[in-house]
Amino acid sequence: MKIDIVSVFPEYFDVMKLSLLGKAQAKGLLEVSAHNLRDWTHDVHHSVDDTPVGGGAGMVMKPEVWSECLDQLLGLDTSAGADEPSISQGPIVIFPNPSAPLFTQADASELSGAQQLIFGCGRYEGYDARIPDYYRAQGVDVREYSIGDYVLNGGEVAVAVMLEAITRLLPGFMGNPESIVEESYTGSEPLLEYRQYTRPTSWRGLDVPAILTSGDHGKVDRFRRDEALERTSQLRPDLVERLDCSQLDKHDRAK
Ligand code: SAM
Repeated sequence: MKIDIVSVFPEYFDVMKLSLLGKAQAKGLLEVSAHNLRDWTHDVHHSVDDTPVGGGAGMVMKPEVWSECLDQLLGLDTSAGADEPSISQGPIVIFPNPSAPLFTQADASELSGAQQLIFGCGRYEGYDARIPDYYRAQGVDVREYSIGDYVLNGGEVAVAVMLEAITRLLPGFMGNPESIVEESYTGSEPLLEYRQYTRPTSWRGLDVPAILTSGDHGKVDRFRRDEALERTSQLRPDLVERLDCSQLDKHDRAK
């Protein structure tokens, strides 16, 4: 997978060389390039923003700078004669945006199948609203996602969050592929995961549930399933409402 990130602070992404993401790049599973948006400016101040049309506080990211950058990364031909560049099948462009639909595990799963992702990090009051509109009209798959109901200073952290969620699903990314099978929000039933324990089984007066040391796999599975259902209904009733009841067995329904 090829990943391009555009930001006015590309140094934010130096951390992508660490840990599992770094190892995945070393293995050739993915290639991450962080670009400085200011490289596509032409004025002496390398300006990427301007005042909001209609007035108001703050600054808005300029469409011309983003379009020069995106045209190049998307490989769109805007040269003489080509009034409107066009693209059929290509990279997916993602803009983090607090006023967009919430990014979910299902989105991460879908995007982990893409060949190339281009992330555009907003700053200030955000980016000119015509940027995503324009590229959608050219046939580019442009997504806008929020990572939560709060406002960050910029899109860099949001991109890092989405990138981690997406890339850990790439085949070969995790040392043990089983580790991503049974997880919160994952699979056809988006439940929260059951609680996890490790050794020692008794610690500071607290014991792990005895059933987990019983060696009875059927009972362990049932215990974990019950706990996942209970925790989800207590902590995230919205997820329970989305469950497909036909997938529940009689023990589940009793819960
Ligand atoms: N004026 C915008 C609003 O009220 O919705 C907030 C702009 S924010 C200060 C600047 C940039 O940070 C946004 O363009 C976006 O790229 C990023 N950002 C901030 N909060 C975010 C969130 N919850 N999810 C995704 N991106 C976010």
